[in-house]
Amino acid sequence: MAEEYKLPRGTQDFLPETCDKLEYIENTLKNMAGLYGYHEIRTPIFEHTNLFLRSVGESSDIVNKEMYTFLDKGGRSITLRPEGTAGVMRAFVENKMYALPDTPIKLFYDGSVFRYERPGAGRYRQITQFGFECLGVHSPLIDAELILMNCAMLYTLGVKDFVIKVNTIGDVQSRENYKVELREYFKDHLDELCEDCRRRYEQNPLRILDCKIDGDKDLVKNAPIIKDYLTEESKAYFEKLLSYLDKFEVPYEVDNRLVRGLDYYCDTVFEIKCKTPDGKDYGAIGAGGRYDGLIEQVGGPHTPGIGMAFGVERLLLLLESYNFFEGYYNTFDAYIMPIGKECLDFAFDITMFLRSNGFKAECEVQGKSMKSFFKSVERQKVPFAIIVGEDEIKNRVCNVKNTLTKEQVTISLDELCTYLNKELNKIYQRSSCSGECNGNCSCE
Ligand code: AMP
Repeated sequence: MAEEYKLPRGTQDFLPETCDKLEYIENTLKNMAGLYGYHEIRTPIFEHTNLFLRSVGESSDIVNKEMYTFLDKGGRSITLRPEGTAGVMRAFVENKMYALPDTPIKLFYDGSVFRYERPGAGRYRQITQFGFECLGVHSPLIDAELILMNCAMLYTLGVKDFVIKVNTIGDVQSRENYKVELREYFKDHLDELCEDCRRRYEQNPLRILDCKIDGDKDLVKNAPIIKDYLTEESKAYFEKLLSYLDKFEVPYEVDNRLVRGLDYYCDTVFEIKCKTPDGKDYGAIGAGGRYDGLIEQVGGPHTPGIGMAFGVERLLLLLESYNFFEGYYNTFDAYIMPIGKECLDFAFDITMFLRSNGFKAECEVQGKSMKSFFKSVERQKVPFAIIVGEDEIKNRVCNVKNTLTKEQVTISLDELCTYLNKELNKIYQRSSCSGECNGNCSCE
């Protein structure tokens, strides 16, 4: 294929098997978000460039180096969203959601964001972010709740070895105190900093601490930490948050160097880190923070808020590294095989009957031999092969083979759905049994 038609750098094709996995991840996040009172919001993939300049901030790397910005045919400067929060904040203000009486207002989004980053392992230019914004309440309990929800999501997905790095960047006064100290500290070392950081020194020295170039230098690592400049109120807020995290046994670590340098961020900031079993680190799988000044920044009334976003592709890499998707996952439930052309219509009727009862079923329509049918069953890891021949038609039964246990039973059509349901529950362990069924459900 000619180079010019190939996949653009930093993007990916997701083939059906991977889409199934992504869907599983996204559905898990969505279901859990529902338990915590979040509702979906969808905003455009592109916005006026100024929105990001204003909200993400002109001094950020995202705005300075990573945005896909272009003039549309009407001469407007448009940008493909580089993150999800700005659009949600705009929609919140534009639709006067701040006037809604029942706070907090909890929103989630799931969509692509675009950043012109250097592609690498777990780093792409088109990223799916699944994010959450909780608006209207300033409370450490709300911050803890968001982190608890993130933990519940990861546990449900099967991710166990993660750690939440958490820090506070205090209130405005704390940060003003801290900025003075940082400027003092870096004053005599400006020539050791990158060009961007020299600019950040003037604009907002906190941003030097999360610079991708200078962040690892000893000079930056030994810089004063915000902890020592917090106001009493900010200190108490953070302590309360940590007490909730302790109470609910959240696997967290305080990381005094974690900052979000943008002016509208305050108090809580966090990042979720996780390594693969073979020690690979794809960077944070999610990150977030409190942003009490952001709604005002985009033209709304003062509204406190906190948000975070997961990188869905990184979650996928992680789950794949755990072999989470191995086995009988998301294939169809039953593959129906007619013995001979005469039985095809009956086999198709059974397929349709199963589909209308909520089973994923497929009918073999190409006249395959039994051998090649079973090869296909094996390749696709279908849990049940259903065989129908003339005798079965006559007796209104079918032969069901459990391809895991190799057990084969003859079942009347009336009982087929109940049987499959029970057996599939065993395979997928999706029984909702409380353990007190006395053998009256499918949990055994
Ligand atoms: P951020 O908006 O930068 O806080 O990112 C939130 C999450 O999105 C991160 O924790 C990552 O999981 C994910 N993410 C950000 N940038 C990338 C990227 N270039 N490639 C893959 N995932 C990313």
